[in-house]
Amino acid sequence: MEDIVIIGGGLSGAALLWSLAEAGRQALLLEGNVIGGGGATAHSRGIVRVYDPVPQLAAWSLEGLRFWQSFSEGRPGVYTPVGMAYFLAPENIARAEAFLSGPGGNSHGMRLARAAEIAERCPVLHDGFAADDRVALWEPEAGHVDPRAAARALADVAVGQGAAVIEGIPIRRIRQMADHFRVETGFGAVEARQVVMATGAAARLLEEDLPLETRSIVLSCFAAPGGAQPGICLIDEVSQSYLRPGQPGHFYVGGAKPAISPSPAALEIDAPGAMVENIANARVLLGDHGYQPVNAHLGHDGYTADYLPLLRDPGPGQVGLFTGFSGRGAKYIPVLAQTCVQGWLQRGLI
Ligand SMILES: Cc1cc2nc3c(=O)[nH]c(=O)nc-3n(C[C@H](O)[C@H](O)[C@H](O)COP(=O)(O)OP(=O)(O)OC[C@H]3O[C@@H](n4cnc5c(N)ncnc54)[C@H](O)[C@@H]3O)c2cc1C
Repeated sequence: MEDIVIIGGGLSGAALLWSLAEAGRQALLLEGNVIGGGGATAHSRGIVRVYDPVPQLAAWSLEGLRFWQSFSEGRPGVYTPVGMAYFLAPENIARAEAFLSGPGGNSHGMRLARAAEIAERCPVLHDGFAADDRVALWEPEAGHVDPRAAARALADVAVGQGAAVIEGIPIRRIRQMADHFRVETGFGAVEARQVVMATGAAARLLEEDLPLETRSIVLSCFAAPGGAQPGICLIDEVSQSYLRPGQPGHFYVGGAKPAISPSPAALEIDAPGAMVENIANARVLLGDHGYQPVNAHLGHDGYTADYLPLLRDPGPGQVGLFTGFSGRGAKYIPVLAQTCVQGWLQRGLI
């Protein structure tokens, strides 16, 4: 009998496994694919920024930034700080000023900057931003995490402390027994006192209607001609487009309208149409510098209407949930995992 089984080895499951191990509790993680390779984590480009119009998410994101800065020490490539300019819609500037003067608002050098200053850092920024005298929140410590590498690193640390991971095991069903759970794989079963589902958009293993939908996010990869590489992350609230640098000579653009459905199987995604939208978004952000579209990454996130995750405590007769991170979770999942694990331990749930 296992004490705790985690289902799903994306960033969420790996972060839970790591948090439990750090707290001296070992769990078994079962992943249908490979760690970091089966869901949103495989496709996410992991922009880590603090400012978020949802205050709770901004608070978690600040802690998340600190987490990635610290966890990436000695692990090159897990977190890459490049800075980020978040161009505000004019009607939202006052809200951002209020954020900056609130708790944590400028704790990492965040401040307002005009487009002309951002263009000095990112010479390929579209001239329209300066022409319209647009204002950005400049976050010098922001950057991007590699979610796949991060999930693997978190799981590896946990395994080094005694946790266990089995990959290539799709779970078919979780059955509640008299005093434990039976996690059924199709070939056999694992018995566990506690189960936590970290299955991302595929959260309907339970026989119930969860308030979680599946959202598609298409990011398009572009090749940059020599010298035209945008070196920082960019977000434009007006066009809803965003960008982050990739490997040298490449970058990713998003913002194409997502599709939403109750489950991944029911999603109707127009990937070529999304690619066209992202090409247009690239031109909003950078103008026409001869960028070549290369391909599209299509990921599915667990989506809640308010962008807040779907969390449920594990307990007697109750499967725990740690899922639904709506396009933003790479920033703060490990911090939230630590908070959840501490709470579960304090209340004697695990
Ligand atoms: C394209 C894209 C871009 C994004 N960009 C950003 C960003 O810039 N910044 C940011 O902060 N966040 C971003 N996100 C969000 C962030 O990456 C996700 O919130 C995070 O990766 C979710 O991790 P997860 O572990 O909850 O889900 P997932 O990564 O989906 O992991 C779920 C895991 O469960 C496994 N699984 C599912 N069903 C079963 C089963 N029955 N049995 C066994 N295993 C199962 C899957 O194989 C998968 O590995 C983005 C997401 C996408 C898709």
